[in-house]
Amino acid sequence: MLEFPIQPFGGEAVDSKFAPLPGAKLLDADLILIGGGLANSLIALAVAAQDPARRIILVDAGAPESGHTWSFHETDLDASQRRWIQPALACVWASQEVRFPHYRRHLRTGYASLTDASLAEALARCVSLTRIAARAVRISSQEVEIDNGRKLSAPCVIDGTGRIPKNYLALGWQKFVGVELECVAPHNRDVPILMDAQIAQHDGYRFVYTLPFTERRILIEDTRYADGADLDETNFVVAIDAYAVEHGWRGQEVRRERGVLPIAMAFNAEAFWADEAGGAVPVGMRAGLFHPVTGYSLPLAARVADIVANTPGDTPHVFACVRSFALAEAKRQKFLRFLSRLLFRAAASAERRKILERFYSLPTPLIERFYANQLTLADRARILIGEPPVPIRNAFACLSEQHLLDDAGQENRDRRRVPLFPRLFASQRASLNQLGRGAWRRRSSDL
Ligand SMILES: Cc1cc2nc3c(=O)[nH]c(=O)nc-3n(C[C@H](O)[C@H](O)[C@H](O)COP(=O)(O)OP(=O)(O)OC[C@H]3O[C@@H](n4cnc5c(N)ncnc54)[C@H](O)[C@@H]3O)c2cc1C
Repeated sequence: MLEFPIQPFGGEAVDSKFAPLPGAKLLDADLILIGGGLANSLIALAVAAQDPARRIILVDAGAPESGHTWSFHETDLDASQRRWIQPALACVWASQEVRFPHYRRHLRTGYASLTDASLAEALARCVSLTRIAARAVRISSQEVEIDNGRKLSAPCVIDGTGRIPKNYLALGWQKFVGVELECVAPHNRDVPILMDAQIAQHDGYRFVYTLPFTERRILIEDTRYADGADLDETNFVVAIDAYAVEHGWRGQEVRRERGVLPIAMAFNAEAFWADEAGGAVPVGMRAGLFHPVTGYSLPLAARVADIVANTPGDTPHVFACVRSFALAEAKRQKFLRFLSRLLFRAAASAERRKILERFYSLPTPLIERFYANQLTLADRARILIGEPPVPIRNAFACLSEQHLLDDAGQENRDRRRVPLFPRLFASQRASLNQLGRGAWRRRSSDL
């Protein structure tokens, strides 16, 4: 196991900084990050690497979940992102593998993981960062009120509170439970197996994901691409135990993680960003910034972190830059959302594995570009041509995402009925909010 000392999150030492200024605006910074999850932690790392003098306050509502792991393909990040993320890495592998009923494939694409502990350790080295363990109850574009009534202010406020904007999305789900085992003997795996789909299929597309952290420590994750978001943890753990027994791994469970990740079949990003105008800058899952087919957010979070690091300025300025990136990305993700619709709407649940099996037979650079959302036109054609793994009639029915958006929420229906005026109004809100600094936009119940 890769052990990292865990930096206490917030706590007395940080809180004492408030003491000398009772009743006043208690703490100023250049940048306030609300939420201490993946997106904001990467922003803190990127900003600290770019400009160590930029003062950052990070407010998080709870201690980090014990033992969270975030992984990515080395080709998801550019050289600069790999440089500043490096101090937060817990484990790096030179290659990876996938297994399907008709083949096994070794891919020479590096893979890496961060853990909450390795991330906390990297953040602890950022001298310009102050971490506060508190819940934000009100957020505006320049001020934040935390749950003890204290206020923080900064020219730039970023909201990375992790809540998915479901009203703007039509979603399927990737559900998983991961158990980390300390085996009594070496497990004999040396590369991550991203998908072992040589297993019984149920509850949608099912595979096991394994990360060998050390010779005896291995994470075994049972994953399902399912229609519903319910997670029956006991059922998953029983399946993981059976997989471990089948591979001869005996040992003690040392950590467990679980997740129900959104798979995007449709996203009205324009409406989302119009409705957010005038508030803090939404990032991470809170802004729908995740890969539509995997639900993973690290690559996009790293790119947004770069944008924030290279955009010293106030909230409206940073908002405009992140919004423009996010809208361009949402447009580029259109094809990926189509693939999600094929997976969830065109293929019968038991047939989903065939789509992935066919996809993984394609050339490695194409697969890398898929994860990094850099697919070319030729790649898209390559993915679609050949013997279709789903009935062609079903595939045609998936071409448009509009009808899914129609069902996605009352918000979107309202927007279509009165399309012009509210949009104009929303785009004006940023400047109005600038004039009325401190006018709280979001209700505490939203947080
Ligand atoms: C178990 C699990 C494993 C995953 N693995 C991967 C992976 O390997 N690779 C990958 O790319 N993606 C992965 N994901 C998907 C995605 O990257 C993560 O969900 C990621 O943590 C999202 O980052 P975020 O910062 O947007 O939200 P979060 O990481 O959820 O952070 C939100 C933070 O905001 C805090 N917060 C919420 N409300 C308030 C408030 N009012 N005031 C203050 N703080 C508040 C919460 O305490 C939380 O710490 C995984 C998800 C899960 C659940």
